[in-house]
Amino acid sequence: MSQDVKTGKTLSPATPWTDRGVPGIHVPDEQQTLKATFTEPTIECPECHALVTRTAMSFNAYVCPQCDEHLRMKARDRLNWFFDQVQAELGQEFAAKDPLGFVDSKPYPERMAEAQKKTGETEALVVMQGLLKGIPLLACAFEFDFMGGSMGTVVGDRFVQAAERAIELNQPLVCFAASGGARMQEGMLSLMQMARTSAAIQKMKDAGLPYLVVLTHPVYGGVTASLAMLGDVHLAEPKAMIGFAGKRVIEQTVREKLEEPFQRAEYLLDHGVIDQIVHRHALRDTVYRIVAKLMNLP
Ligand SMILES: [Zn+2]
Repeated sequence: MSQDVKTGKTLSPATPWTDRGVPGIHVPDEQQTLKATFTEPTIECPECHALVTRTAMSFNAYVCPQCDEHLRMKARDRLNWFFDQVQAELGQEFAAKDPLGFVDSKPYPERMAEAQKKTGETEALVVMQGLLKGIPLLACAFEFDFMGGSMGTVVGDRFVQAAERAIELNQPLVCFAASGGARMQEGMLSLMQMARTSAAIQKMKDAGLPYLVVLTHPVYGGVTASLAMLGDVHLAEPKAMIGFAGKRVIEQTVREKLEEPFQRAEYLLDHGVIDQIVHRHALRDTVYRIVAKLMNLP
């Protein structure tokens, strides 16, 4: 007595071949349902709309491999990419308060909690200490996704602490700026950070230590009017928008149409506002060379 290959029923020799099962691969029922396969998350380039995997983007320092557009980098990614070795993170003891009890469409603490959840950062400035090609230095980066990288008291605290630590350790400071300006929710206290950070930079200059600014897309308002324009050297990434008031506001004030590349890094370079536009792939080398030169290192 043989068995049917499919049904497992006992077959008598009299069963016609047309009734016998066809031998095949047995697939258990639970495997027959379709399952989603793992696909790598992709990022769409805002310029050429190419879909590039997140891994490829991060390996390329978030520069589009198709069209060379410089995508925004998260502050933490930026610093981890910039340093060969991160030794410490500074300023995490500063936490934002709500000194004015500010409420717009929602209360400030609620807005803050949302930004923290969205970015995984506690504030809009990340400060790290580490080595760049063997040179010990401090660097800070603005997290633009954290309430538009706006400068509140904690950003001021962290920046001032970074500058003071730089003086203490006799190390240069590099700032990657990307901000919409002052933080409205902290009112006057936010504007005071412009003076505080400017004073801290002056202390660095008095100590003879270099302070470099790398302007990334975009830098506006109170940050442009203070720490982002007080560097010894101003580098910018290609096509970064840099200004004090936004283009639309100026157009409405002067009643004139302002054409591209108004407020772009290339325009500012032509007009002597910044020193150099540096491709992101060349940025680490450029900063290293400038710092080594200014610090009189071999
Ligand atoms: Zn692209």
